[in-house]
Amino acid sequence: MNQKITIAIDGFSACGKSTLAKALASKLGYSFIDSGAMYRGAALFFYRLGFVSKVHLDEDSIHRSINNLSLNFKLIEGKNCLFLKNENIDDEIRQSHVAEVVSKVATIKAVRVQLVKQQQEMGRNGGIVMDGRDIGSVVFPDAELKIFVTASPSIRAQRRFDELKEKGIPQTLEEVRENLTKRDHVDSTRTESPLIQVDDAIVLDNSSLSKNQQLEWIMGKVEHRINA
Ligand code: C5P
Repeated sequence: MNQKITIAIDGFSACGKSTLAKALASKLGYSFIDSGAMYRGAALFFYRLGFVSKVHLDEDSIHRSINNLSLNFKLIEGKNCLFLKNENIDDEIRQSHVAEVVSKVATIKAVRVQLVKQQQEMGRNGGIVMDGRDIGSVVFPDAELKIFVTASPSIRAQRRFDELKEKGIPQTLEEVRENLTKRDHVDSTRTESPLIQVDDAIVLDNSSLSKNQQLEWIMGKVEHRINA
């Protein structure tokens, strides 16, 4: 498998896209980019500036300061961490104050244009697995392999709840479920690059699959695509 392809993984919130994408990238020796982390980083930046909260969104101010947004991934002890200028924000972007505003910030065209440009640059040479909502539709419409991941809402909520608990982030199962439902709604109905299942994507419903089973399934698709 010497040929390095581009792999786009899209789907609903908390269905294990990033975990799968990361495992796949590691198995293939590809780079992995969690595009959701970048939207979370942008949301944190504008949240700190007071331009977005649970109850408001100041689009004009966001437009005016978009060029000051500087996000980069750096490898820290083997983990690809998101930095806002020189600050490691990888833990903070998983917290509820960010989860509550990220989908609002992700509706703004100027934010998407900036992040998509950066994402396309990262994938310029292929050999990349990127997960998100618009990877197969907008970021890499020519990706050789596109996967659309889905799982039942209750399973997704439970998985995210367990993940946050493990990280020591306090949230009830009901709060997690509510956040996922809201984000899925905003992400699927926004005007700018909504979450859609593109025609050439292969669907993976991982409700009853283990991480290893998912990796095996997707490796089969990669091999098939490369040998096609
Ligand atoms: O993937 P994750 O759940 O961390 O993404 C957080 C949010 O970022 C999503 O709910 C969505 O609003 C936004 N997002 C997006 N486009 C992407 C990735 C994430 O709009 N490619």
